[in-house]
Amino acid sequence: MSVYLDNQAAKPVDKRVIDEMMDYFNDKFANPASLHCDGDIATDILEKSRQKVADFINAPNREDIIFTSGATESNNLALIGGALRNKKKGNHIVISEIEHISILNIAKYLEREGFVISRVPVDRFGIIRLDKLERLIRDDTVMISIATASNEVGSLQPIEEISKIATEKGVLFHTDAVPSESVIPIDVQKTPIDMISLSSNDIYGPRGVGALYLKKGVRVNPIIIGGGQEKGFRSGSENIPGIVGFAKAAEIMKQEMPKEVQYLKGLRDKLIKNILEIIPKSYLNGHPEKRLPHNAHFRFDYIEGESLILTLKENNIAAATGSACSSKTLEPSHTLISMGLLHEEAHGSLLVSLGRTTKDSDINKLIEVLPESVKRLRKLSPLTPPDMLKELN
Ligand code: PMP
Repeated sequence: MSVYLDNQAAKPVDKRVIDEMMDYFNDKFANPASLHCDGDIATDILEKSRQKVADFINAPNREDIIFTSGATESNNLALIGGALRNKKKGNHIVISEIEHISILNIAKYLEREGFVISRVPVDRFGIIRLDKLERLIRDDTVMISIATASNEVGSLQPIEEISKIATEKGVLFHTDAVPSESVIPIDVQKTPIDMISLSSNDIYGPRGVGALYLKKGVRVNPIIIGGGQEKGFRSGSENIPGIVGFAKAAEIMKQEMPKEVQYLKGLRDKLIKNILEIIPKSYLNGHPEKRLPHNAHFRFDYIEGESLILTLKENNIAAATGSACSSKTLEPSHTLISMGLLHEEAHGSLLVSLGRTTKDSDINKLIEVLPESVKRLRKLSPLTPPDMLKELN
């Protein structure tokens, strides 16, 4: 395995989570819909798991949790289901310019279906402009959907303020909490939020399972129709082993988050300090303080992020450029462009995301390899100015 610094794209499943899941593949495998004793056992573990996920965000009722196949589906259920359900009230939805690709593409789909979408811009740190958000809300606005943080540059969004605005204006507030769920606690009894998308893998649970928190009384239309599981909001036989794993991951995360965050911050700060000091013309994208504790997003003048990733790959280091989930595109990141960066600036980016298994030695290795890699690429780049080239040679 390489020095793995791409934890925002995928996280390893915690061994304690795997242990918890094992029984539910071939021993306690029954369907909760069945009326026999084995079905009762499945129902029991399903509801216990729902309670653990509810506890993770301090939801008052376990029924507020709808299990899904992951955050993409949760986002679809919140936005499409919410738009359809509230069509009579209005057809306007507000998102931000820097949402995850799943939200951006759902918004495009809704536009094709006749809904109207407004996109709030961000400032140069990647934080949404609250003044603009307020001005975008209209009489026919039914929902605001803004993620808790940028999954790219790591800037934290002012969720409490957005929640206040949504409450004052009487519109639903949905947030995709995936970027921050492993590092920032959510308490829906302190911060009123109507819908929250969660993903199991982002808290070291298995992939392919997630949840939508639906505040009591909030209604959305189902988008997967069938046997009526999950109170009719999400049909299909429940993925019991996945759900058990997700719940265990949530339980561990809740207990270990405070300690883990301190550890991650230490590593991240050491990385940022060293890189910015050692590499000339290097910058940190996103907000210097209001950022995810496990995210460092750099920009280096005169080189391309894709070449940098390949150079790191040769050194057995796994990192990302642009958005962690869809890094294979060569388009400049919509987030960096929205923050006001020029196309050539947006291309020279590197996203380093840390996690529970990241070691100090991993960070040391990156600090050792990255300056050399940047130097090598700058020597080859036609964009490097002559005076810098002279110094490099
Ligand atoms: N939202 C955000 C912010 C993400 O980073 C991701 C990918 N981890 C998703 C949604 C999609 O999640 P999933 O792959 O669980 O559907």
